[in-house]
Amino acid sequence: MPSDRRDRAVRAAVEQGLLTEGQPVAALLDVAGIRACAAGLRNAFAAVTDAPVLHAFAVKAAPLVPVVALLREEGLGAEVASAGELALARAAGVHPGRTVLDSPAKTPAELREALRLGIAVNADNPQELARIDALMSSTATSSPLGLRVNPQVGVGAIEALSTASPTSKFGVALRDAGARERVVRAFLDHPWLTRLHAHSGSQGMPLGLIAEGIRTVYELAEEINAAAGRQQIDTVDIGGGLPVNFTSDEQTPTFAEYAHRLKEQAPGLLDGRYGLVTEFGRSLLAKHGFVLARVEYTKTAGGRPIAVTHAGVQVATRTVYDPASWPLRIAAYDSEGRPKSGPEVVQDIAGPACFAGDLLATARPLPLLEPGDVIAALDTGAYYFSNHYGYNSLPRPGIHGFIAGRSGATRFATVRAPQSLAEIVAESGGAQANALTAP
Ligand SMILES: *Cc1c(COP(=O)(O)O)cnc(C)c1O
Repeated sequence: MPSDRRDRAVRAAVEQGLLTEGQPVAALLDVAGIRACAAGLRNAFAAVTDAPVLHAFAVKAAPLVPVVALLREEGLGAEVASAGELALARAAGVHPGRTVLDSPAKTPAELREALRLGIAVNADNPQELARIDALMSSTATSSPLGLRVNPQVGVGAIEALSTASPTSKFGVALRDAGARERVVRAFLDHPWLTRLHAHSGSQGMPLGLIAEGIRTVYELAEEINAAAGRQQIDTVDIGGGLPVNFTSDEQTPTFAEYAHRLKEQAPGLLDGRYGLVTEFGRSLLAKHGFVLARVEYTKTAGGRPIAVTHAGVQVATRTVYDPASWPLRIAAYDSEGRPKSGPEVVQDIAGPACFAGDLLATARPLPLLEPGDVIAALDTGAYYFSNHYGYNSLPRPGIHGFIAGRSGATRFATVRAPQSLAEIVAESGGAQANALTAP
């Protein structure tokens, strides 16, 4: 989001008491930014194909009912990978016909429920296909059914997030000996199988490589349809995986760039014969959220200034455990929520958790922070504050959507209330306090 919009929101959050001694962490979501981003996604694909496209938001990127509902209002569906995510999508009012189930470990009960509801299911492997086959004989369903494949186009910069590596755990590995033939056979043997699915991206993957994976899937769809002598595959689910730029306020690469790349590398996929499903997550939300935290203390160690804040591993788990792969930009504000000025001093920004590695940023040049100041961890709208990590029983912070009113005043709406201490105790077995003690 533009920095002036962010600055106004920070100032308003402090003024309106969202960040206090009692609530020293708060997360903000830019509602207008999310809406604009969703519109950008719709327009990007509408510009390259006339075919029907279902944009299913990957719920794991921001498992928050009001966010899923906002995206539903913007014309998106939901991609879910667990009973919990499905429940969130349903609570957000996403129609089953606009929901896609993708977990690699679906249980028979989950499959039965999905087929009953008419949710699209992408099978991950031949064993799951056999389970679905058995259910199909006893279930009438409107669920579109697909098979996930791994085009094995290669690894991006972050191996743990590269879904198209040769040994990825996801989908049928297409380049393994005999695999392609077995996939074609599986489609011929299961005439109800009408979709191919791949999700060959994620952070660290270059656009060209992601598009190459999709082209591979398109070519496989053509091969299967030729072998079947009919257009058995009518829809290709191209997954999500567009990376996020964590280095500036710019949103790059854009959905439009990606759609054009697909048009160049797989024109046949977009010529109208195939419906499309997309499953973007991080690229829809990351740039439209940030975490605010108060600085509690400042100190120096080994000559390095350190600001001890209330935001650490509980809201920025990936960054704290793997800072080289997930560096976050930090913005500094004073205690009133105004951008902090002054000469830049190299300092560490630490979190509140009790382990030495709980650092949001190291050796960062910023105006020297003081107790009571506020820091913002930027681009954290996906997979960060929405995906809380309960270390040290640190509470889930409140999440607030912000909207600029006509008068220029910023209005906040609670997306998720801050977790209370009573809730932490209850979730930690509070009702069974004496379960293990002698009677
Ligand atoms: C995680 C995931 C997504 C979303 O990935 P992003 O990188 O957040 O866009 C989409 N599809 C599947 C199957 C996933 O596992």
